[in-house]
Amino acid sequence: MRVTVLGAGVVGCAAAAELARLGAEVVVVDPAGIAAGASGRNSGSVQHPMEERTLALHEATLGWYRELGVVAGPPQGVLVVGGEAEAGAVAARFPELAPEVVADAAALEPCLAPGQRALRLDTGWTVSPERATRALAELARSRGASFVREAPPPGDVLLDARGAWDGRARPVWGVTAVVDLPPPRHVIEEAGVDSVGGAAPPERVFSIVATAEATILGSTFLAAEPDPAAEVPALVSRGARFVPALRDARVLAVRACPRPVSPDGLPWIGRAGDGLGLAPDDEHALRRTGDDAGIPGHLRPRA
Ligand SMILES: Cc1cc2nc3c(=O)[nH]c(=O)nc-3n(C[C@H](O)[C@H](O)[C@H](O)COP(=O)(O)OP(=O)(O)OC[C@H]3O[C@@H](n4cnc5c(N)ncnc54)[C@H](O)[C@@H]3O)c2cc1C
Repeated sequence: MRVTVLGAGVVGCAAAAELARLGAEVVVVDPAGIAAGASGRNSGSVQHPMEERTLALHEATLGWYRELGVVAGPPQGVLVVGGEAEAGAVAARFPELAPEVVADAAALEPCLAPGQRALRLDTGWTVSPERATRALAELARSRGASFVREAPPPGDVLLDARGAWDGRARPVWGVTAVVDLPPPRHVIEEAGVDSVGGAAPPERVFSIVATAEATILGSTFLAAEPDPAAEVPALVSRGARFVPALRDARVLAVRACPRPVSPDGLPWIGRAGDGLGLAPDDEHALRRTGDDAGIPGHLRPRA
């Protein structure tokens, strides 16, 4: 089977690796190259979902990342500042997260303002997002997949992994800033980050994630494409409520990208109703598009 994968983000690269392992002839098309979208610009925290239905995906992701050397060892931990009221509920649903209420989170992370209560969760591996996506792309290549910028002749199956550009996902714009700050060990986030996929998400939720390459201050959740630089003062002032040193920290870079968000916040996996395959759960979930199926006209490379 010849498969054309649209999009070389983490979803397209992972799907390509798996399809190539199953014996498909795979070409990944992305006019912008590997990891050019959200997969190269996110905050870089791999963490346990607060949702049972995506647990298997999370565990599979961790398994792949361990094999590829993208993550190693135990998690760094997530500190949810102001999230202590959720400890009981989290313990009941996900005891493996060993939720622990911390009376003064500054004792664990000295960058935090003293006296803030937090919920500590036993998850959170930080990775360079681009590195993780490229590792999956290399795995796909090692199994015979190829990556191109222009559409090749159509395959038997189109697999749509264009993320926020697929015309169906709701783009939720995230702006993050790379800041010059001693890296915290934990992933630190403000309580409420889980509600951002909902109908009326908050426009900004504080988070700070330090990968080996960068300390990333986040993040916005905006419906319309923002002017990234104009968002930085609000990100910094929100973050400084939790991490006072942010007021004086240099901003080294600003990144913006739309997140692909489905109506229920869950990933789309399997067949699409209109003839496009979405990221597959297995080889049988793909839909044949027919011999004359080219890349449909509305799937134009973005400018
Ligand atoms: C600011 C921010 C912070 C985030 N933080 C985290 C985090 O800490 N942890 C976490 O797990 N998730 C995080 N996310 C979410 C995560 O990044 C995304 O869920 C994930 O990267 C989506 O991957 P994808 O492959 O679906 O999409 P993308 O990575 O966006 O890939 C889609 C690709 O499709 C390509 N494309 C567009 N049009 C076409 C076309 N016509 N033909 C072919 N290709 C096309 C694009 O160039 C792009 O490369 C964050 C997202 C953002 C924006």
